[in-house]
Amino acid sequence: MKKLLLIALLFAQASFAQRTILHCGKLIDTKQMQVLTEMSIIIEGNKITDVQKGYTAATGSDKVIDLKNRTVMPGLIDCHVHMDHETNPDRTLRFSQNEADIAFGSIQYAKTTLMSGFTTVRDVGGSVNIAIRNAINKGLIPGPRIFTSGKALSSTGGHGDPTNGLREDLMHIPELNGDVVNGVDECRKAVRQRYKDGADLIKIASTGGVLSLEKDGSGAQFSEEEIRAIVLTAKDYGMKVAAHAHGAEGIKRAVRAGVASIEHGTYVDDEAIDLMKKMGTYHVPTIIAGKSVADSAKKPGYFPEVIAGKAIAVGSVIQDAFAKTYKAGVKIAFGTDAGVYAHGKNWMEFVYMHEAGMPAIECIKAATVSAADLLGNTSIGSIEKGKLADVVAVEGDPLQDLKLMGKMKFVMKAGTIYKNE
Ligand SMILES: [Zn+2]
Repeated sequence: MKKLLLIALLFAQASFAQRTILHCGKLIDTKQMQVLTEMSIIIEGNKITDVQKGYTAATGSDKVIDLKNRTVMPGLIDCHVHMDHETNPDRTLRFSQNEADIAFGSIQYAKTTLMSGFTTVRDVGGSVNIAIRNAINKGLIPGPRIFTSGKALSSTGGHGDPTNGLREDLMHIPELNGDVVNGVDECRKAVRQRYKDGADLIKIASTGGVLSLEKDGSGAQFSEEEIRAIVLTAKDYGMKVAAHAHGAEGIKRAVRAGVASIEHGTYVDDEAIDLMKKMGTYHVPTIIAGKSVADSAKKPGYFPEVIAGKAIAVGSVIQDAFAKTYKAGVKIAFGTDAGVYAHGKNWMEFVYMHEAGMPAIECIKAATVSAADLLGNTSIGSIEKGKLADVVAVEGDPLQDLKLMGKMKFVMKAGTIYKNE
């Protein structure tokens, strides 16, 4: 008898599971690259259970959300963010802030990112990003779904070496050098350590970088042998590798060694482009970061001299690099380097990509279907039956004016509505 009652209860629960129905005036189909009109998205729990033509009527306890005046699309994905900081000319912060201070700061950045329509991000380097990811997953704080590399790996004196530019005695403090590795054995060990830390992917710097206190912003760092050891070890743990790379030699070494993506790719040449196409390597352009650091460099005292020079040289050519790789047919995934500029402005990358020659609908594909492919995640990136209910919407037609992507009106992540204006 008790058993029967339980079964009856379960059935009752199942039939009364509340559905949310989104009535969408326009719906961007990121897979077929088309815009559908008058569509309904049916959501149960955290998943999309159906996508129907016309405005499906509510029955029983169904909840209808009217997005008839909106253009609806899958939740956006930014493949290159740093959730734990935001550009600031105060270089003493890294000595005055504890990790807890950094974590509290990131709470606001995570919320801003989600409210801007980015329901998923790939965080490629920071000290507290694993904890932030976990806090979001537990529902403790609002934020995008995060896939993170934990701390990035760098060679001695490389882009990710946190003791660059410091006093001699501070340069050799092991705790400060924790993310610096040299030689195949150390590289392998560092990947295993990241796995143990709980990282989702590995980030390396295969060339110099702009915002570190090192002289050369684009020269090759890490040997190809070291990068290959990182890639192969990461593969053992189901992790992909993202390589920060500006100069052509460092790009080529990373691509040949099998990394999944080249971040920035500033001085990509024809040989590197051919290699990327052959290997199926993604380019994650980060045009907005380049423009933003070049602008900041013009403000007196914003950066130390060694950084300002690199920022102007590197920052202003990233958009051209993207134009080249895109035209040549390299796979493109949307990524912005948020944190290098103010979080929440990620949408500006759409405008810059379009300006460099990419049609608007392809820009949105880069931030949905292609970004999900780079992440290796099949549950996000499109609005289809069985996918997670990550849905965002803007007013008007963003395919006519990508600036509308900066005015997000509706944000749903995994079936939960965070914004509906
Ligand atoms: Zn970055």
